[in-house]
Amino acid sequence: MHQDFERLDDAAELLRQARRVVVFTGAGISAESGIPTFRDKGGVWDRFPPEEYATPHGLLMKSRTEPERAAAFAYGLLQPIAAAEPNAGHRAIAALQDHCDVSVVTQNIDGLHQDAGSKIVWEVHGSTFEIVSASGRHMWRVSRDEVQEIVAELETMLAGEFDAMKAFAAIGRMIGAKDGEFYRPSIVLFGEAMAEPDWSEAVDAAGVCDCMLVVGTSGLVYPAAMLPEMAKSAGASIIAVGPEEGIADVWLTGAAGVVLPALLRAAYSTPD
Ligand code: NAD
Repeated sequence: MHQDFERLDDAAELLRQARRVVVFTGAGISAESGIPTFRDKGGVWDRFPPEEYATPHGLLMKSRTEPERAAAFAYGLLQPIAAAEPNAGHRAIAALQDHCDVSVVTQNIDGLHQDAGSKIVWEVHGSTFEIVSASGRHMWRVSRDEVQEIVAELETMLAGEFDAMKAFAAIGRMIGAKDGEFYRPSIVLFGEAMAEPDWSEAVDAAGVCDCMLVVGTSGLVYPAAMLPEMAKSAGASIIAVGPEEGIADVWLTGAAGVVLPALLRAAYSTPD
């Protein structure tokens, strides 16, 4: 991936001056952990169009009419997340806490910022690991290990003879019904409201930060994509990191796992 560090010192200066920083991340921060972004060829969204699979109605219909396809989608979505570990980009964001007040606002559902050690993480599109009722009430959490076990069971079923009932049982810790109430991961599907209280917290944090560090997001998914605009109009500086240049006070071109550790070194003279 092309790297352009020309403006690294400008970005480092903006970061150093900031007391309150919001790090706003998208799928790109986790690409180097092996989780495909929306746009990646061959990724889950390429094989399972989001307009068909990432809506509550679409997903329910697929489970009833084409359970094997629905199970393949669940496998495709969960497998990379279950296997993933934080990368150098996640770790650099966690290390930023040693230097200023940091709130991480992520569109991701993969739990990797928390695994890297970030303390304040607002998951505006929900989480794979938090199981909620149809009305959004928290029910329980599943661990990455549990998701790995589910993925392994689905893999065996999809490779052999597929049995819809066994597939439903395998995924029963994450999706099903209990005491007449439907439950599932808190992932925000298309057409659904943003996750709360995370979205309100994210909006508040964007309104009072001195600097927003935008990492690995195409800026195409609304309303999340409004956050940098909100921060900018409240007076924050915007530093952005990603492979294709876009709008920011300083844009650092390159992979998050390379650019972010370099930015921290430049801002605070820290080792990796
Ligand atoms: P997106 O897929 O639309 O865009 C990803 C962006 O990351 C692109 O601009 C791409 O150029 C950039 N990118 C790719 N590799 C990068 C790298 N190594 N370093 C820095 N940037 C890199 O993702 P989005 O804007 O987050 O929006 C898509 C939606 O999909 C989000 O709502 C998110 O919830 C969901 N999603 C989540 C995950 C996850 O949890 N890891 C993965 C895929 C999609």
